[in-house]
Amino acid sequence: MNQPLSRSAEQAQDAIDNERLQSSIAALATFGGRPDGGVSRETLTSIDLASRHYLIEQARALGCEVMVDDCANLFFRRAGRRNELPPVLTGSHGDTQPVGGKLDGAYGVVAGLEIIAALNDAGIDTLRPIEVVAWTNEEGSRFGPGTMGSSAFVDPSRLAGYLDAVDQSRVRFGDALQAALDSIPGVPRCEMQRPLSACVELHIEQGPVLERAGIPLGVVTGIQAVRWFTVTCHGAMAHAGTTPMDERRDAMAAAVSLAQKLYGFAATHAADQLRLTLGRWQVSPNSVNTIPGQVEFTVDVRCLDDSVLDRFEAFLRGLAADAGGSVSLERFFQRAPTHFPRPMLDLIQAAAGRACAQAGLPAPMPITSGAFHDAMYLADHCPTAMIFVPSKNGISHNAAEATDPHDLFLGVQALAYTVTALANQET
Ligand SMILES: [Zn+2]
Repeated sequence: MNQPLSRSAEQAQDAIDNERLQSSIAALATFGGRPDGGVSRETLTSIDLASRHYLIEQARALGCEVMVDDCANLFFRRAGRRNELPPVLTGSHGDTQPVGGKLDGAYGVVAGLEIIAALNDAGIDTLRPIEVVAWTNEEGSRFGPGTMGSSAFVDPSRLAGYLDAVDQSRVRFGDALQAALDSIPGVPRCEMQRPLSACVELHIEQGPVLERAGIPLGVVTGIQAVRWFTVTCHGAMAHAGTTPMDERRDAMAAAVSLAQKLYGFAATHAADQLRLTLGRWQVSPNSVNTIPGQVEFTVDVRCLDDSVLDRFEAFLRGLAADAGGSVSLERFFQRAPTHFPRPMLDLIQAAAGRACAQAGLPAPMPITSGAFHDAMYLADHCPTAMIFVPSKNGISHNAAEATDPHDLFLGVQALAYTVTALANQET
C-alpha cells in the first residue's frame, strides 16, 4: 500500500469517537434489553424489526443509502469516488440468542456505522463505496439453521430451502421474512451475490484466549472445520428387573461404550485442538425400569485441521462397522475449515498493531475462531477476514457477556484502518 492510502487509513482510525461508540452500543441494546443486562432480540421478531428501523434511521442520518436483499439483509452504503467498483463490506448480525448479550453481532454492526461517522467527521472520501451489513438470522435459535442471511447472500439458491423452517410457535421463516420486508416499503431491494471487493467482520471472541493472554486484539486466521453426526445404537427393550445382565441387548450400554471411545480419541488429539461434543441424547423408551431399546446421540466435532476430522470420521465409522448392524451412523452436516487470505491478515495485523501500539498495549495475536460467523460464508465470495476483541471470562450467549470498553474502542479503530485501506485499493 502506498503512503497516501495508509495516511487516510490512519486518519480514519484516529477519528473513531469512543464516547459515541459506547453510547451507540448502549442504544442498540435497548431493543430487547433485559433487567439482567442481557438482550433478547431473536431474528425477525417485532423487537428485531424495531431495531432494524432504528439502524436505518441512524444510517440515513449519516448520509448512507439503505438497501435490503431478498433475505432481509440490510445494507448501509457510503458512496465512494467510483461507485461502479465493488464495495468493501463490514458489519455483522443484529439478532441475538433467546438470552444474549449486548455485543455478539451488534458490536460489528455498530462499529461499521461508527466508521462511517468517523470518515464523515474527518472529511475522508474513499475510492470504493463502503457498506455496513446487518445479516439476518445468524444465531439460528428461532429458525434453523444459523447464518441464513450470509449463506443465502453468497448462494441465493439456499434461500428456498430456508423458507419452510418454523419457530416454536409454528411461524414460518418465509412468512416472518416477508413481514420484515413489508415493514420497510421505502427501502429499495438489492441483488444477492453482488460482487464485493472484500469483507471484514469485527466480533467478540466468545472464548477465553485473548483475555488469558492479556492481549486486546486478535487477528483471526481462520474458522474451524466442523462435522455433525447422528449415532443410533439399536438394542432390545426388556424388563430391568427380570433380564439377566448377560442376556441383554442394552442400547445405552453400547452408546456409553462408543462415547467413551470417542472421548478417548479426542484426548489423544488434544494437541490438534480437536473439540468433541456429544450434545443431544434421545433414549427410547426413556423409562426408569426398561432396558433402552434405542439410543441416539449427536456428535459435533471441530478442528482447524480437516485431516484430523478425516481420521476422527474413519475411527467413528470403524466403531460403527465393528458393531455390525447394531449401530447406524449418519453425517448430517459438514463444513471445511476457513483460512482467511494472507494479504487480509497482513493488513489487519498492521491496523490492529497500530491501534495497540498507540494505546501502549501488547501487539495483536493470531487466533482461530471456534464459532461459526457470517464471515465464514463471505470467505467463499470475496477476500474476507475477522478481528476479535476479548470476552470477559470467555462468556457469550449469556446476559453476562462483556468486553472492556477500551478493547471495544481499539477493535473499531483497527476495523476503521482496515476498511479504509481496502476501500482505497484499486484492485
Ligand atoms: Zn455473533
